[in-house]
This record gives sequence, C-alpha cells and structure tokens, in this order.
Amino acid sequence: MSLLKKIKPEFYDLLRSKFDDKDLKRILAAVELADIAHRGQLRRTGEPYIHHPVEVAYLICEMNLDCDTIITAILHDLPEDTNISVEEISRRFGKTIAFMVDGVTKLSHVRLQKDWFGLLGLRKQRLSYFEQQIETIRKMIMATSKDMRIILIKLADKIHNMRTIEGVLPEKRLRFAKETLDIYAPIAERLNIGKWKGELEDLTFPIVYPEEYKVISELYTKQLGAREKKFDKIIKSLLKIFSSSPIKIVRISGRIKHKYSFWKKLKKVSNDYSKIYDLIAFRIITTNEQDCYTALGLIHKRWKPLPGLIKDYIAQPKPNGYQSLHTTVYGPGRNIIEIQIRTQEMHEEAEEGIAAHWHYSDIKNQGAKGYVNNKLTNIKKGQLIWLKELARWQKQIKDSRELEHALSYDFFKDRIFVYTPQGDVRDLPEGSTPIDFAYSIHSDIGNKCSGARVNGKLVGFDKQLKNGDVVEVITNQKSSGPKWDWLEYVKTSNARSKIKSSLK
Ligand code: MN
Repeated sequence: MSLLKKIKPEFYDLLRSKFDDKDLKRILAAVELADIAHRGQLRRTGEPYIHHPVEVAYLICEMNLDCDTIITAILHDLPEDTNISVEEISRRFGKTIAFMVDGVTKLSHVRLQKDWFGLLGLRKQRLSYFEQQIETIRKMIMATSKDMRIILIKLADKIHNMRTIEGVLPEKRLRFAKETLDIYAPIAERLNIGKWKGELEDLTFPIVYPEEYKVISELYTKQLGAREKKFDKIIKSLLKIFSSSPIKIVRISGRIKHKYSFWKKLKKVSNDYSKIYDLIAFRIITTNEQDCYTALGLIHKRWKPLPGLIKDYIAQPKPNGYQSLHTTVYGPGRNIIEIQIRTQEMHEEAEEGIAAHWHYSDIKNQGAKGYVNNKLTNIKKGQLIWLKELARWQKQIKDSRELEHALSYDFFKDRIFVYTPQGDVRDLPEGSTPIDFAYSIHSDIGNKCSGARVNGKLVGFDKQLKNGDVVEVITNQKSSGPKWDWLEYVKTSNARSKIKSSLK
C-alpha cells in the first residue's frame, strides 16, 4: 500500500481522481523522498514531520493546482530541514520544481523582528515604522516570488502551521500569528483567495488580539443568538421574492460574517456598533450577470435598501478582481441584512482568486506566446488571465493609498533587500554598501562600524550589496567614529547625514 494512502487516504483518493498514473507516480515518489528525508523529525504536536508537507500539499490540491505545485508543496521543507539540497531536487524532479522549492525556502527567511512584539503597547511613532516594515515585507514577498505558485504554497504552509499552533511554544505563538495576520492574510486578500484569507484571519485573531476577540465574541453571542435562527426564514422569504420571476437561482446561503473583518470595521467607525449593519450576510448565486441585476431590483422592490450601501462591483470590480453586487436592506421584521449577489463564476473567483487560474485543467490546454518575467515563453490559457491579474495587482500596489506614507520610491525598481544574521530584512537603494546597512540599523552601529561580513565573508566598505545578502556588521567600541572617505561609499541620505553630523 502506498505510504500516502496510509498517511491521508482522502488525499490519495483525490489525487487518483485528478491525475493520470504518470503524475500520480511522481507525486508518490515525492512523498517517499520527503518521508525518508524527514524521518526521525517530529512536529511539536508530536506527529511525524511528514504530516506537515502532506497537509500543505493537500490544501494545494484542494485548490485544483497542477501536479508540479503539489510536488513542490511536498518537498518544500527539504532544503531547510534535511540534507536534501535544491540541486538534488532538480536532478530528481526537474528545474521548475527545484526553482519553486528554492523560492519557498527563501521566503522562510523573511520574518518580523522579535522586538516588534508586544506591539499593542508600542508608541505611535514606532507603530508606523512597523506598518512600513510589514508593507515592505509583503511587497518583497510578492516581488521576489517570480512564480505566483510559490506564494500559494507559502500561504498553504501558513494555514497548516496556524491550524497546529498549539504545538508551538507559547512565547512564539504570538509572533507566528502576528506575522500570519499582518503579512500573509493581506497577501491572500490581494490575490482574491477569500477562502484562505478568511481561515488565516480566523485562526490568528484570537491569538493576536485575545481581549478584542473576547469582546467581539460576546457581542456576537448577544446580537446573533436570536438572528441566526431566522436564517431559514429569511432564505424562504428571498426564494418567495424570486418565485414569480424567470431568473435562475443556483443557491442562497446565509452566514455570520467573520469576526476579524467585523472587528476591523468596528474600529473604523470608532466602535459605534449601531453603524455596523452587516453582521449577517446572505449570498445569492445566479447563473448569469443579467439575473444578478434583476435579483437586486426585485429585492429592493420588496425591502427598502439603506442609503449609500449599494455597491456594484460587477460593473466596477475591486482591484483584486472581486465581483459582486452588494446591498444592505431592512429585511423582514426590520432586521438589517446584507445581501451579496453574484454568478457562480464570480463566486469561484472570489473564493480561489489567482489560484483558480492555475487549475490543472487549464494548464493542459494549448496556449499562445507571451511574456513572463520579461522572458518570452509559452503562455498557457490559464496563465494569460493570471498575467493580467498580476499587472492589475502590481498597479494596485503602486496606487494603494496606505502605502503612500511608507514609500516615496518605486518599489519594483532600484531597491535591494538584505538581511541581518537574525533574518530581519532591510530595504536599501541599489548600490548601498555595508555602511548604509549599519546606519540603517542604528547610528551607533554605523559610528562604531569597523568591518563587515557579507554571506560570511569579510568585505571592504565599498562592497555593493546584492539582493538576498546576509550582512553582519562588526563593531569596535573603541572606534573613533566615521572617516571622511566613508562619504564616498554611502548611497543613503540617512547614512550621509549621520556621518556628517558625527564628523562635525
Ligand atoms: Mn513548512
């Protein structure tokens, strides 16, 4: 019996139904390799390590991603945690998979600084610095992941790590959860993967904001206890509204909105609960766009809409591609309810977003020529949509107002990302040297700098840093401070002004 069948039978069955024997064999070979390589390692939950990559790959498979992505997910922790190198993966599974495994491994070096935790107590000034840093990290993750599938694997990795957070040491839980909530959930949102964004937020909210979570939970119990029972009644009323019209309804469902997004909204209206109407929401799925508008009209004829809350995201999609009609109405018994109306296709897009464009069935299709990462390659049908998506999304990053204060430069050009030996990230202009790096940490470190190591090797002060370099500053407490010639080596105005003021 295959090993995978023993570890997770439903995964094995799902693979059988999706892939031919050749692909299945490759996937099972990856499981065998990962099992042998991780043998003896346990997750902190006590499970053998192999369960983790298998669960990550299962999430990827549930998203209908292609065979290469599933294999990459199975192998994603090998270079970091075992003696199997990227080169060996390349020999056994080919360049594409090796490239993606390497990409996922690199992303694991992107972390938040330890001393940023206990954030709630931070002074405002530090907080904006923090916001700026996490935005840099988000963008770095997106910009350095040359293949979007790398990000999808990282998101799945985070979901499984958060599902098993009870196995993490308590002092590390907050940091893990905060990183996931602040960096990865927003990335899932930008890629329009509603399903994963929701799960990441649900899993992390109670850990990152336990007090707030408690307050919101109590509010929910109070406000919703009675209303939830009315779900069926409201769905029946909706069906009745549509019964005399020719429109085809695929499905109507009612749900309580996610607590985290509710809390975020509540903060925006200064905690005035009466200003939030959409604690419960109904979703109407139709077969075509015209029926969405007809349904909206019929609802408004029956129930009065609240002013200013009708949104047409079909005619004007959100920047991440999300499409739907939204309205908030005085429903039966004057209960205020939110209603979202969209087609089945729009619904799938909202749940799976960019992942939907990597569906393995699309990848089998013949494609046209096009550009990926400035290189002419064969573009398959699914990827053409994906490229449009990426362009739209890069534009969104540039347009986004939340970034304006954080960045006065064009993120995609002329910046490099380098790490401290602890894995903290610094972003610097291209051409920066170890002295720029030292001053970016602290002016004292800059002033006492006596040498530097880049990727473990001693370098001169004129060494130009490259993307991904790990830089270690050597300081000498007896140092007499910066020298005049340092000014020739620095690129950042920060370092320049600090050197000048110290020389005076
Ligand atoms: Mn992992």
